[in-house]
Amino acid sequence: MGSTDRITSDDVLAWIQLAAQVFRENREYLTKLDSAIGDADHGINMDRGFQAVLAKLPTLPTDDVGAFLKGVGMTLISTVGGASGPLYGSFFLQLAGPTTGKAEVDVAEFATALDAGIARVQGLGKAEPGDKTMLEALLPAQAALHAAVDEGASPGDALRAAADAAEEGMRGTIPLVARKGRASYLGDRSAGHQDPGATSSHLLLKAAADAWSRA
Ligand code: ADP
Ligand code: MG
Repeated sequence: MGSTDRITSDDVLAWIQLAAQVFRENREYLTKLDSAIGDADHGINMDRGFQAVLAKLPTLPTDDVGAFLKGVGMTLISTVGGASGPLYGSFFLQLAGPTTGKAEVDVAEFATALDAGIARVQGLGKAEPGDKTMLEALLPAQAALHAAVDEGASPGDALRAAADAAEEGMRGTIPLVARKGRASYLGDRSAGHQDPGATSSHLLLKAAADAWSRA
């Protein structure tokens, strides 16, 4: 981290760079999960999107957290197809709202930005908790992040709590029957498989925790 309790634009850049590396490393894993209950492209989608973001980095502003995140979102929307491209792209566009014009934010402001991102995923995808989507990871992470912020946690510790909650939510998708997205076409046969989007959401938040807990 930069200065102790602030999330700087450099920290956000480090998060996105690490996320790109993590999605590259987990490309086959996410695709394998999607082959069980979808169309075997989720890892390909996430990797394609974040590699495009990496290519775009030199053109993105480095002193404005929101403007940077907006560039990430626009790149994801224009390069990732399927359900997850518009959902993750819009998620990042909404993160930009409360953070635009700021060279750094505190973790409470980041939590507010995450609220906006998750609300957009819910508004666009119309999924409810229990529908076996990325929200199974995002919603518990959101609650854990706010609880950690209320306790005065550092950004690294707060994001760790959020990522741990996301991981638990991700594992909780295994017995669920999908009610949204392609997996819902399988009906009861979608049960017994971990949701790919909940898995990528966990990886995304874990990348923030890992990027921001470095000493
Ligand atoms: P597609 O399903 O179009 O091939 P991906 O494979 O990239 O797109 O993404 C699939 C993931 O998207 C699912 O595992 C699920 O988590 C998420 N998803 C699908 N539909 C929705 C929705 N309506 N709301 C939230 N997340 C969704
Ligand atoms: Mg798919």
